[in-house]
Amino acid sequence: MKEDCIFCKIAAGEISSQTIFENEEFRVILDISPAAKGHALIIPKEHYGNIYELPEEMAAKVMILAKKLTGHMTDVLKCDGFNIVQNNGEAAGQTVFHFHMHLIPRYKNDGNQDKLCWNHLELSQEEMKEICQQLRQ
Ligand code: AMP
Ligand code: ZN
Repeated sequence: MKEDCIFCKIAAGEISSQTIFENEEFRVILDISPAAKGHALIIPKEHYGNIYELPEEMAAKVMILAKKLTGHMTDVLKCDGFNIVQNNGEAAGQTVFHFHMHLIPRYKNDGNQDKLCWNHLELSQEEMKEICQQLRQ
């Protein structure tokens, strides 16, 4: 547990939260400032600052839990879709520096249609090729 980390405290139950699921490794809570009804956060109980620090086996478990919960939440909330969002670093919009995954139920005409989006760059074929070569493993 990291001192002064709010999600460590929430995960440990030291700060109260609206918990919708808990097991040995995770606590899943409702986001305090939800983008939509049912917006939840998967929080590992161990402190990992971001995806770079998250061990691979935990990453797999997070995704399996996301898969289970989105199915369950869709049944209960009758939502029309889901965004799974996970921010790493200030530049990417991370504000709480304890790894977490957002599960955001989406509803037709929920007013957020233009929210989860970004500007589209126009890159030349050469630039695309160069980036592809740099990234190719
Ligand atoms: P991010 O910007 O990806 O780091 O997301 C942090 C999220 O944590 C935001 O959506 C906040 O609304 C949420 N949040 C911050 N503090 C709390 C809290 N005490 N309980 C529940 N959610 C919180
Ligand atoms: Zn923490």
